[in-house]
Amino acid sequence: MSGSVTLVGGGPGQEDLLTVAAVRALLDAEVVLYDRLAPHDRLAELAPGAVLVDVGKRPGHHAIPQAEIEALLVEHALAGRRVVRLKGGDPYVLGRGGEEVLACHRAGVPVEVVPGVTSAISVPGAAGIPLTHRGISHLFTVVSGHAPLTPDELGHLAGLGGTIVVLMGVNTLPSLTAGLARAGMAERMPVAIIERGYSAEQRTTIGELADIVTTAGRARVASPAVVVIGEVVRLAHDGDASAAELMDRAAGFAAVAG
Ligand code: SAH
Repeated sequence: MSGSVTLVGGGPGQEDLLTVAAVRALLDAEVVLYDRLAPHDRLAELAPGAVLVDVGKRPGHHAIPQAEIEALLVEHALAGRRVVRLKGGDPYVLGRGGEEVLACHRAGVPVEVVPGVTSAISVPGAAGIPLTHRGISHLFTVVSGHAPLTPDELGHLAGLGGTIVVLMGVNTLPSLTAGLARAGMAERMPVAIIERGYSAEQRTTIGELADIVTTAGRARVASPAVVVIGEVVRLAHDGDASAAELMDRAAGFAAVAG
């Protein structure tokens, strides 16, 4: 019998946010390799026929290196098993899903990808922040904060004028905010940090570009967290009044430009 690998996007951590395709793939699985950020509390029930392998990072333990995860996927599939690789969010958003697909291709193992609800969009949503809003922001950019951005990247980001969403951005927040300010972003630009979205410990910290590092430090903000930079943050913070004001301003600009 020939095995296979299905990369499954598990969403931001809440079981309700698994797709129907994800639930089906889990039901059918014989081995599940899962991450810390994927929903895993009831995995034994969701994947009753599977051996469950935790390959994620946990405090005090080292993560299994990516090459080893890929080797495990291939090894189980070549032994004839239906393997599910359960990942947080969407497999193709800063999740190394592409590397795992390539590893399967190289080994001649059939591989499929089930998309998931990405934290980049859903976690701000859980805090009441829409990434786009007519008249306020018509674009969003998702960036990794894993490594500091280059001055060029910071310049482009600050110049775009839309919403910026940063994943893995808690540690690099000081260099990001300083870099954006240097690149010309308004010091008063609203910033929100949403920790542990869709869990009982979800928490939102709000500030401005100039003071968010201090505010976040005082609140002891920790990962996993999604950072949102842009006027849309005010929609959650100040609500309807802010939206009306921002849209009046946008309409004013449009009248002048038109
Ligand atoms: N593929 C994933 C992202 C992987 S990178 C996706 O599409 O969501 C891991 C980062 O995602 C974390 O450092 C954090 O920035 C973010 N993240 C994932 N789940 C989260 C959650 N429940 N709450 C807050 N941030 C989360």
